[in-house]
Amino acid sequence: MADFEKMPRKNFPAAIQLSCAAIIAAFLGLGLFILFLAGGIADKVRLEAENKLVANELDRQVQLLARDQSQVSHWDDTVFALSERVDEAFVREEIAGWLWEDFDIETSIVVSADGKPVVVVERDRVLDPSEGVAFAVSVEDLVSVARQNYMAQRRATGNGFVGPDKPFSKGNEMFAADIRQVNGQMGLVMAQAIIPDDEATLPDGAPQVLITFKPVTEALLETMGKTLGLSDFQILHAVDVHPDLVSMPAAPGAAIALGTAASPVHAAWTSARPSAAIWRLSAIPMLVLLALVAGTLVFVARRSAASLSALETSERQNRFLALHDALTGLPNRVQFDRALEDAITTGRYDRCAILCIDLDRFKAVNDTYGHQAGDTVIRTVAKRIAGTIGDAGIAARIGGDEFIVLLHNEIDKDSVLWRCDQLIESVCRPVMFEGGTADVGASIGVAWWPDDALTAKAVIRSADEALYTAKEMGRGRAHLAGMPATAASKAASSDRERASRAANG
Ligand code: GH3
Ligand code: MG
Repeated sequence: MADFEKMPRKNFPAAIQLSCAAIIAAFLGLGLFILFLAGGIADKVRLEAENKLVANELDRQVQLLARDQSQVSHWDDTVFALSERVDEAFVREEIAGWLWEDFDIETSIVVSADGKPVVVVERDRVLDPSEGVAFAVSVEDLVSVARQNYMAQRRATGNGFVGPDKPFSKGNEMFAADIRQVNGQMGLVMAQAIIPDDEATLPDGAPQVLITFKPVTEALLETMGKTLGLSDFQILHAVDVHPDLVSMPAAPGAAIALGTAASPVHAAWTSARPSAAIWRLSAIPMLVLLALVAGTLVFVARRSAASLSALETSERQNRFLALHDALTGLPNRVQFDRALEDAITTGRYDRCAILCIDLDRFKAVNDTYGHQAGDTVIRTVAKRIAGTIGDAGIAARIGGDEFIVLLHNEIDKDSVLWRCDQLIESVCRPVMFEGGTADVGASIGVAWWPDDALTAKAVIRSADEALYTAKEMGRGRAHLAGMPATAASKAASSDRERASRAANG
């Protein structure tokens, strides 16, 4: 009997599936979060390292230029050649012929103490000093810093002044340098006071300053990029930095500031971005791990859902069997007693009738056709009894061929007797099964609550006694509690008896 299927189900599988989906989502979310975090940190650390590399490399380039230029600016010969009157032969040979050819310095200008150019050399050509005025003006700020550096570090000797012993020592550099765009060309600008290196001395006052300009050429950028291991390395005007390029922020401790506020310049390159490699390398292991976790969870979820479902089915079956008869699915004695107790104690009904029903000569079916046929007869009869009672009450099976009915609707004597006739008539109809047909009858004992007894137990006992009397009186009839056995009812029953016996052979 699968009537227990109608009992309410608990939805375990859906709850388990939901939990598993939440675990998988949480796992995936955590994995992605870790990768994002790791990628972000790796990119940041890498960018900081690149910034330092770039700053160091730019510092190195500036130091190199300072040293190259000092071959001329830190030299007694230069001091002598420029002190009184400009020695043109010296300018041609040492400045034009040396700084350009040996160190790629494109422009060299010497400005006097009053800031006017006295020597202007473009590559290997000596120009008229007036042609360097614009250049000198554009780098006035550096010239001024170079002068201040000299004034701060100069030493007095017997007949004048000399520069510091170590004009390149870190932090005390004599030079002032910058990367800036001059005449539309990006380059390193260097300004150094011209100071003696041996016996010469300088008069008191502002020194002459040598300014040099070394362009940042494609070749130089390529060499720097290769040295640094950075792609697309460029030095650009801030406004020209493409968003795809990483721009070096003003790095604290950088050897030079890139550009002045008026002419901001940035070093820019494409950062290596280790996060891309992290994502690439982690994607497959992450997916495999996710598939493993998901697979395990799905397996566990299915197994537990199946076990829980089976457990719940068996639990519902047990609950059903505790209150129902296994063979017929009708309520059993326990449920019937509860229903009767409930009807009596809640006061829901003023009266109710109890019908005890026992099949007549049922044993003969078992003996003739076997126990299985007997079961079929019981099941069929149970359906007929339940169908006859319908909503008028509750029908239960309480034993082998015994049924009990609680009627709470239409319980006046005539209605109940009419219902008994219906019951007897329905039970008496032949029952067909594989291998034969059986005819059984039914005897019924009827008692009323509270007319015949006040308690559930007592009213059932009364109905049972009435049933016993009905049997005594010849079966196939209903007998009311408290009524004497009459000849008339005996006669009424004997017709049905005879018919039943004839059918059973
Ligand atoms: P009576 O007319 O006096 O009621 O006699 P009866 O043949 O109906 O026999 P009785 O009521 O005294 O006994 C009922 C029999 O029903 C006893 C038992 O062999 C049989 N029986 C009890 N439970 C089952 C069952 O679940 N299945 C089958 N097939 N037979 C049962
Ligand atoms: Mg019987």
